[in-house]
Amino acid sequence: MTESFEHFKQIYIDVFTKNKLEGFLGEETIKKFYDFAIFLAEANEKTNLTAISGFEDTILKHFADSLIAVGAFPEGASVVDVGCGAGFPSVPLAIVRPDLKITPLDSTGKKIDFVKSAAKALGLTNLSPVCARAEEFVRDNRESFDVATARAVSRLNVLSELAMPLVRVGGRFVAMKAKEGECELAEAERGIATLGGNVQRVEKVTLSSVSGEELERVSIVVAKASPTPAKYPRAYAKITKSPL
Ligand code: SAM
Repeated sequence: MTESFEHFKQIYIDVFTKNKLEGFLGEETIKKFYDFAIFLAEANEKTNLTAISGFEDTILKHFADSLIAVGAFPEGASVVDVGCGAGFPSVPLAIVRPDLKITPLDSTGKKIDFVKSAAKALGLTNLSPVCARAEEFVRDNRESFDVATARAVSRLNVLSELAMPLVRVGGRFVAMKAKEGECELAEAERGIATLGGNVQRVEKVTLSSVSGEELERVSIVVAKASPTPAKYPRAYAKITKSPL
């Protein structure tokens, strides 16, 4: 196990340094990410949680990738992670930002069960996972979060209708997308305005593996400028059939 940790640590340091994430190289932080990587790999053998495996891919494509917009989360913010899956970006954010109060949200029970047990095993008291569909969860949680975030859930025009109603006026929606995010923004911009949003920042990020593989990412920050009209979100079938 010690040997495995040393191996993990070397790859982690290489990947995080290469991707300008040097702020997260403390021994305790690396140990938490290691514990999470092992926990995820073991669970993934029993239940299919993620297609990504191996230390390098997990560190680059899950851990570093979840932190590309870490600076967009204000100190002490309450955050809802819409469609968190196996805990991305929630768990990496919770590890490096103990100040955030994060609600990982997913409609799939086995994924939320996994995030709950990972939070317990890692001692992450700033995670409160919830199993629900976003468009139903909003009923009791409308405009109650400082930040809504999501990585790789659906096209931005659909995702915005799920996420924006959860954000309080004055808060923000941080969407973490692959490079297609820029084109998705063009088709989503009118809908974002209808939902009370104002696109504030679009940042392109290139993640690099140790061997030189490059992954293009886009983070989009939308400010919540005015309340979302009460008729949104609509039923999921409507959202996907005729996105705003
Ligand atoms: N964010 C994670 C990641 O980056 O690895 C998971 C992405 S996975 C492609 C999309 C997840 O969104 C799935 O776990 C799915 O169950 C969840 N999801 C899709 N629509 C949802 C909805 N309306 N409400 C809650 N969760 C949803």
